[in-house]
Amino acid sequence: MVTSKYSKVLILGSGPAGLTAAIYAARANLKPILVHGMQPGGQMTITTDVENYPGFAEVVQGPWLMEQMQKQAISVGTDMITDIITEVDFSRRPFHCVGDSGGHYSGESLIISTGAEARWLGLDSEKQFQGFGVSACATCDGFFFREKNVAVVGGGNTAVEEALFLTNFASKVWLIHRRDELRAEKILQERMFANDRVEIIWDHRVEEVLGSDNPRVVTGVQLRNVHDDTKSELPIDGLFVAIGHTPNTALFEGHLDMDQEGYIGTVPGSTETNILGVFAAGDVQDKVYRQAVTAAGSGCMAALEAEKYLTSYATAQAAE
Ligand code: NAP
Repeated sequence: MVTSKYSKVLILGSGPAGLTAAIYAARANLKPILVHGMQPGGQMTITTDVENYPGFAEVVQGPWLMEQMQKQAISVGTDMITDIITEVDFSRRPFHCVGDSGGHYSGESLIISTGAEARWLGLDSEKQFQGFGVSACATCDGFFFREKNVAVVGGGNTAVEEALFLTNFASKVWLIHRRDELRAEKILQERMFANDRVEIIWDHRVEEVLGSDNPRVVTGVQLRNVHDDTKSELPIDGLFVAIGHTPNTALFEGHLDMDQEGYIGTVPGSTETNILGVFAAGDVQDKVYRQAVTAAGSGCMAALEAEKYLTSYATAQAAE
């Protein structure tokens, strides 16, 4: 049987933004429907230790935290549905989405919180050590590398900011870049060049993450010089991949305003998109902070704004 569901608030995505939006919308008695893909919980489910989400004196695990948020959203009345949305129609109200299963979902308001994905180098060894010394978030994991040697891959703002941030903990930070110039802003570059804890390895690619299995830890990386193809090994304890993020917005191309990198545009200080009644929260519209707590905050904003929109929309309808 094909599912057909309707709600005042339809939420796409189940990271901290989507789940927080669901908690607030459910508690406002809006009976939200939240549609999530096959791996609910978003990027937090590929993190291990989380020490910076407020409210927990002890270290918690990313997947556990997301499970708790999900249970909380369900317990206050969210209808959670597993499906992969493949089509959207924002040209009529209620807004309409169609899932991979053939399910139809419509909402008087829509909150998009489909998140973003860190870009990875694409190495099997990188995958093997993800959460065990390989990370895509220095803010999340830098703390675990106190007095250790780490490397950051990339040459953009994120890579340079992460390298600088990591100098707060690590004794040595290598920045590995595939070219001989950085694309990061000059001011950041100068700050990094002036920091004697950071050393740059120009014109090299990371070819392999090296480590041991028991315990699973990173011990180094294998590098290749892009000019003469020579290989070398760099002993490190942690690798931070900072080669950009990709927002999960392909589905909304042509439907919503986005920037050049595909992040959904929102009115500053709000989660409103260019379509009245459609809101975007979390990493799908934020390329600066990208934290679970900021995503949760913007999820809350989206639910409050959706509620306000629904009230004014209903008032306008009644007046017609
Ligand atoms: P980015 O600007 O796209 O830079 C990605 C970097 O990774 C580039 O240096 C690129 O090398 C390198 N790279 C890409 N694929 C690679 C691969 N397979 N192997 C090795 N290196 C690879 O990404 P970002 O730094 O995450 O920044 C994204 C956006 O957010 C930018 O618009 C940035 O300005 C913005 N941002 C702003 C701030 C801020 O304002 N404080 C902070 C962070 C990010 P090439 O240079 O050779 O292409």
